[in-house]
Amino acid sequence: MVTIGKTVLAVACCAALAVACGSPAPSEPQPVRSPVAVGSDGAVSSVNPYASQAGIDVLKAGGNAVDAAVATAAALGVVEPYSAGIGGGGYFVYYDARTGKVQTLDGRETAPAAMKPETFLDPATGRPIPFDQAVNSGLSVGVPGTPATWEQALRGWGTIPLSRALDPAIRLAQDGFVVGDQFRAETAMNEQRFRAVTPTTQLFLPGGELPVVGSRLRNPDLAATYRLLAQEGARAVYHGALAEDIVRAVQQPPVAQGADRTFRPGLMQTADLAAYTVAPREPTHSTYRDLDIYGMAPSSSGGTTVGETLNILGNYQLSSADRVQALHHYLEATRIAYADRNRWLGDPAFTTVPTDGLLSPEFGKDRACLISPTATLASPLAPADPNHPASGCPAGVGAAPPREGPSTTHLVTSDRQGNVVSYTLTIEQTGGSGITVPGRGFLLNNELTDFDFAPSTPGAPAPNLPGAGKRPRSSMAPTIVLRGGKPFLAIGSPGGSTIITTVAQTLVNHIDLGMSLPDAIAAPRASQRNSANTEAEQAFLDSPDRAALERLGQRFVLAPPTLSPLPQIGAVEALEFLDGGAVQAAAEPVRRTGGSAMVVTPRP
Ligand code: GLU
Repeated sequence: MVTIGKTVLAVACCAALAVACGSPAPSEPQPVRSPVAVGSDGAVSSVNPYASQAGIDVLKAGGNAVDAAVATAAALGVVEPYSAGIGGGGYFVYYDARTGKVQTLDGRETAPAAMKPETFLDPATGRPIPFDQAVNSGLSVGVPGTPATWEQALRGWGTIPLSRALDPAIRLAQDGFVVGDQFRAETAMNEQRFRAVTPTTQLFLPGGELPVVGSRLRNPDLAATYRLLAQEGARAVYHGALAEDIVRAVQQPPVAQGADRTFRPGLMQTADLAAYTVAPREPTHSTYRDLDIYGMAPSSSGGTTVGETLNILGNYQLSSADRVQALHHYLEATRIAYADRNRWLGDPAFTTVPTDGLLSPEFGKDRACLISPTATLASPLAPADPNHPASGCPAGVGAAPPREGPSTTHLVTSDRQGNVVSYTLTIEQTGGSGITVPGRGFLLNNELTDFDFAPSTPGAPAPNLPGAGKRPRSSMAPTIVLRGGKPFLAIGSPGGSTIITTVAQTLVNHIDLGMSLPDAIAAPRASQRNSANTEAEQAFLDSPDRAALERLGQRFVLAPPTLSPLPQIGAVEALEFLDGGAVQAAAEPVRRTGGSAMVVTPRP
């Protein structure tokens, strides 16, 4: 069991949580969540104190940032199993202190070979099947990339084997963790569909009930699965008995008798698992002010869209002296960048993505000419063609943005050598497909619902339709920012398609509006993704900025509820590298009950 430094007593509020108050609920202390830590010798910021501690323990034992990132991610698979785990995928961005280079791994899930562009269409009507039915099905399950990502990252850049990196997570799965409010709330949100799947009910509804806050949840099946990976390596997921179990769960979802829904069978074969490979990719690169921004290249749209947004904003001086204009420009820049993202982004193995063009400063300048300081662009705005410079200024009408989900987890690590990792991983929805692999202790993703089910308009270019072996487009935006060639920030967020706007807004808050990193993370968010209305958090809607922005034509709606009763956008985890070798680890302070920032040697 990892040791958490300080503890506080869990407050188990029977009334609010509707637990059985008659019987005394076991109540163990929950680990403290600290949103800021400053110090040296390495740092971790993640959404969960157990997971951050796992990374810190590895750093203290002499491991590097990559080792710590894998240990933290594996622990998140235990304590945040609805957001991430070996049943999913993600993107790993790494700064190597020795070479000064940023490298990345694309560990995105792939579609099985039997997947076709029309897989998500109803054969009877030719129309997309209801989104919910796609999520809760074997059809949405992509070949997991996370186990292979961990192994490849450790082989390339780590100092310990996978077996050691999995150690803290194995103990955590075996000994259990203390259930907190957020875990219970996420289980409650998923309760109905979890009840439809026998092994998911068994694992996450102990005794048939929602897990009680303050009780201990153990996952011996996952401990055994991690031990198998420790012995055999990641290949245990892609070959042999575990691979066969995954395929069986996908093809014949283990639906409970009398379930309130059916789960469509999926298309995955063992050959699909055997064929999986992680794709090493050049990072995206752009500049902003005096900074170099490195991000994730396609198949994620994160790097190009954050980069294009900043390239547009780079044409303006933004400052806290005129917050309203700064926010107006931020909203207009993401509106434009999203029009281009939706037109061009897809798996680069299947579609030509003009990555360099989208990231060129000239294209950003070209697109910036659309922005008026006194008016708001109409959405959906048409995309421009970065292959033809100077084509970007006429506005035009584009396609409505596709639907995308709101889950995932982000973590950042650094070490005393100066290496840095920014890693976002996911199983897509909170709770993924809802399908737990029987006896194996983990949920399978529903990442393939990130494909567009059909072209936005018949005949329109559709770079993100399903295809055999294809990676669905992602919004994940793990980012590393350098200043003068040295790490300045590492940052990322969950939140589906709002990830990109969250990363961009936090960077603008910090770099342009002079907010400290913790304040930049905490600030109320608004997310404009080429829609008529900008989704915003309540605190943003309540701020004086809103009325001033509305006078410029901006329109706002409350963001849809996601992982809590209060609609929230994203949950940033970040590091800032300070002068003299110190690092500030910063985690989300409030959203999703807050994350956990830790350093190896706290500053006195
Ligand atoms: N599937 C999403 C993506 O790759 C991430 C999951 C989420 O945050 O909802 O963009």
